[in-house]
Amino acid sequence: VIRCRAAVAWAVGKPLSVEEVEVSPPKAGEVRVKIVATGICRTDDHVLEGCFPNVVFPVIPGHEGAGIVESVGEGVTSVKPGDKVIPLCLPQCGGCSFCLNPESNYCVKSHVSEPQNLLPDKTSRFTCKGKQIHHFLWVSTFAEYTVMPEYAVAKIDAAAPLDKVCLLGCGFPTGYGAAINTAKVKPGSTCAIFGVGGVGLSVVMGCKAAGASRIIAVDINKDKFAKAKELGATDCISPQDFKKPIQEVLTEMTGHGVDYSFEAIGHVDTLTAALASCNMNTGVCVMVGVPASGSVISIDPMLLLSGRTWKGTLLGGWKMRDCIPTLVSSYLEKKFNSDVLISHTLPIAKVNEGFELLRAGK
Ligand code: NAD
Ligand code: ZN
Repeated sequence: VIRCRAAVAWAVGKPLSVEEVEVSPPKAGEVRVKIVATGICRTDDHVLEGCFPNVVFPVIPGHEGAGIVESVGEGVTSVKPGDKVIPLCLPQCGGCSFCLNPESNYCVKSHVSEPQNLLPDKTSRFTCKGKQIHHFLWVSTFAEYTVMPEYAVAKIDAAAPLDKVCLLGCGFPTGYGAAINTAKVKPGSTCAIFGVGGVGLSVVMGCKAAGASRIIAVDINKDKFAKAKELGATDCISPQDFKKPIQEVLTEMTGHGVDYSFEAIGHVDTLTAALASCNMNTGVCVMVGVPASGSVISIDPMLLLSGRTWKGTLLGGWKMRDCIPTLVSSYLEKKFNSDVLISHTLPIAKVNEGFELLRAGK
C-alpha cells in the first residue's frame, strides 16, 4: 500500500480537500501509476457541481493526466514499471463490438455504459481516514498514485515531457479530433467554434491543420481571442456585441452559414445556435460540450430536414489506446503545439486555486 496525497471531493458543491490517502496495489489486469501532472478539464468541474448523477462521492476526480507505471498486477503485459503512460478516460478493451469496429472509438467498458466509480471487480483501491473513496472514469488523476485497468492506459514515448503531454489525455485530442476525425474538415472550408476554452482552442488547431480557410471563434470572454488568433482563428466574435442571434450573424458573415460548426461549451442554447449556424443543406455541426445530465433540446425539425448533419464526439473520435501514443509522437515531432493551452502550473496543494482560475475564465 502506498500513502500519498490526493484531492478528494467529499460531497457535491464542496471544494476539493487535499488528503493523505492509501492506494492499494494493482490486482490482476491492473496498473498502478505515479501521476506526474494533470490538467483540469471543465468536466472535472461538472463533477464537483454534481452534474453527473452516476458519480458517487467521496471521489477522486481528474482524468487528464500523465505518469509513470509504478507496478503492475498479474497478467499485465503491455506496460511495465518505469514506462511513461497516459491514463485513458475512454478505455479501449480491444474485444467488444465497438473496439472491433474500425469506425468506432467507443468501448463498452466506457463510463457511458457502466459507472466507473469502482474498478471492474467492484472494489476501490483508495481509502482515506478509514473510508472507501471512489474512482472517477477509472483514472482519478488528482491522486499522486492511482490504479486503473490495463486497457485504460496507453504507453507513450519515453522522451515525452509529462507536464505537457498530460493534455493529450483529454482536452487536446477531443478538440483536435472533433475537427479532423468527427467533422473531417476539408481544405478551404469555413468553420465556427463556439467556446474557445481548452477544448475549443484545440478545435481551432484541428480546423487549421485540416486547411480551413476561415475559422471563426465565438466566445463571450474576449480574453480568449488572443490565443484563438495565435492558433489560427481568422475572426473572433462575442454574441454579446450583437442584437440579433449569433446564428444570424454567422450566416450573414458567410453567405449561407459555415461548413462546420462546433459547440465546445455544453449549453443547450449554444448547441442549438451552433446547429443553426452551419449551411442549411451541407453543414455539419459537432457537439463537443457536455450539457448537464437530463438536459433536453428542442429544435425546429427543418434545421435537419433541409440536410444538415448533427454529430457528437467522444474524445475526438480517437481509438485511445491505439492513437494517443501516435499523437504523443506527433507532439514530439512538433506537428502541433498543445503547450499553448497551458495557462498556469500549480502544485497539487493549490488544486482549488486551479478550479477558481478555470471558473474565472483564466
Ligand atoms: P472551458 O470552460 O475552458 O471553455 C468554455 C468556453 O466557453 C469559455 O471560454 C467560456 O467563456 C465560453 N462560453 C461560456 N458560455 C458561453 C456562451 N454562452 N457563448 C459563447 N461562449 C461561451 O471548458 P473546456 O475545458 O474547454 O471544456 C469545454 C466543454 O467540452 C465542456 O462542456 C466539457 O465538459 C466538454 N468536454 C467534452 C469532451 C468530449 O469527449 N466530448 C471531452 C472533454 C471536455
Ligand atoms: Zn471495448
